[in-house]
Amino acid sequence: MDHNKMKFNTKVMHAGQTHDPVTGSHVSPIYQTTTYVLENIDEAIRLNQNQDQGFTYTRFGSPTQAELERKIAILENAEAALAVGSGMAAISTALMTSLRKGDHLIAGDVIYGCTFALIHNVLTEYGIEMTLVDTSNLENIKEAVRPNTKVIYLETPSNPTLRITDIEATAEFAHANGAKVIVDSTFASPYLQNPLDLGADVVVHSATKYLCGHGTVVAGVIAGKKEFIDKARFPYLQTFGAVISPFDAWLLMLGMKTLGIRMERHCSNAQKVAEFLENHPMVEKVYYPGLPSHPTHEIAKKQMRGFGGMMSFDVKGGIEGGKILMNSVEVFSLATSLGNIDSLIQHSPSMSHFDMSKEDRMKAGINDGQVRISVGVEDVDDLIADLDQALSKVAEQIK
Ligand SMILES: *Cc1c(COP(=O)(O)O)cnc(C)c1O
Repeated sequence: MDHNKMKFNTKVMHAGQTHDPVTGSHVSPIYQTTTYVLENIDEAIRLNQNQDQGFTYTRFGSPTQAELERKIAILENAEAALAVGSGMAAISTALMTSLRKGDHLIAGDVIYGCTFALIHNVLTEYGIEMTLVDTSNLENIKEAVRPNTKVIYLETPSNPTLRITDIEATAEFAHANGAKVIVDSTFASPYLQNPLDLGADVVVHSATKYLCGHGTVVAGVIAGKKEFIDKARFPYLQTFGAVISPFDAWLLMLGMKTLGIRMERHCSNAQKVAEFLENHPMVEKVYYPGLPSHPTHEIAKKQMRGFGGMMSFDVKGGIEGGKILMNSVEVFSLATSLGNIDSLIQHSPSMSHFDMSKEDRMKAGINDGQVRISVGVEDVDDLIADLDQALSKVAEQIK
């Protein structure tokens, strides 16, 4: 059956799947080897000089990695995909493949911390100019664009305020101005949105999060046109060396099989948690794109198939309130990262965004009492009860 005709849960299970031709092993083996024995010198020359597809050395690719890449390409409706050693490897490889000295980049002002560091501290050292704006308002992008703008980089939904950027409108504007759109779609996963279908040129994920789903692997993926992916693979990935290990690629594929059913539960749990928090007297504000009160709820409804499992909220009592909450939860784990089957909680001002000045943090809407939660797939009543008891500790302890 043509995988394009399959629905998501069938596709994620079967697409790109190969059964081991030697033993018939139902689950593909992990090709845990560094090198490949070649038939003869003619084959060695063809493969080593890139005249032919095949496997020679694991930094250049492995059958396990190749299977993962086929699956990602299918899930993102892309011509090709590249799997790499981390989400940051995906982002840095995609940006380095796209930008040259003297080029200009527009990116969101509220983005993943290390992406900000890459753009702000590293790329600028290589002569790449940048402007950071709130990309959820296209007018800001229009104002920032320059003749040398080559990339518009979007994170949607964004970390940690869950702002949604209209990918379709941004891509239309970018293409009219000779720029490419790269989307970090980590918070959505391919289950909730496909940026390439909306006109984006490249999509990247921290596969560490929802794609893996179990908190066991650090990995990243890039998907887009074959020409772009080929270039990202060679020379960029081959020379930067940010490869994914065969074992990690295999674990990732294991996790991905349940992506659809996990995401369904993440979404329904998160919606209930968000509604609970929005009505709680100790909560000042909830940032969840599934709430009609969220400023970009309408764009989320238009371009996503659900609102995901991530949200932030401002607890009363500022930094102190946030800290009491962190120390009071029992089901949620106090931990960075997200997208696991179990629920995680973090206090953004003192954890993920500690290195921002208070002024920049406030401007980005990351308030003192802002807590970010990754809602897991547990029974939602237990998650709500846990937050409720922790919030009553905040109420008791702050005056
Ligand atoms: C975690 C994350 C990254 C970085 O991914 P790693 O796998 O940790 O390198 C990038 N973007 C977003 C939105 C993330 O959540």
